[in-house]
Amino acid sequence: MFLPCPECRDEQIFEQPSCIDGHGPDCPEWMCQACGFGLFLATYPEVDAVAPPARQRTVPTSAPHAPVRRAA
Ligand SMILES: [Zn+2]
Ligand SMILES: [Zn+2]
Repeated sequence: MFLPCPECRDEQIFEQPSCIDGHGPDCPEWMCQACGFGLFLATYPEVDAVAPPARQRTVPTSAPHAPVRRAA
């Protein structure tokens, strides 16, 4: 699959190396085929898993019953 490689500073083809830790097909380890940079895909989604912007910033302080929605 294509992933942005921090070493190449470009999108590169990443492939799973033969796992030596017994993860099998679920192995989170991917390796850049250009430079050999190892990437743990399991940690990757955290990049765009940032908290949504605080809603109460747009809610006037005079609205005491404004619903507070929290992402589950
Ligand atoms: Zn593994
Ligand atoms: Zn690379």
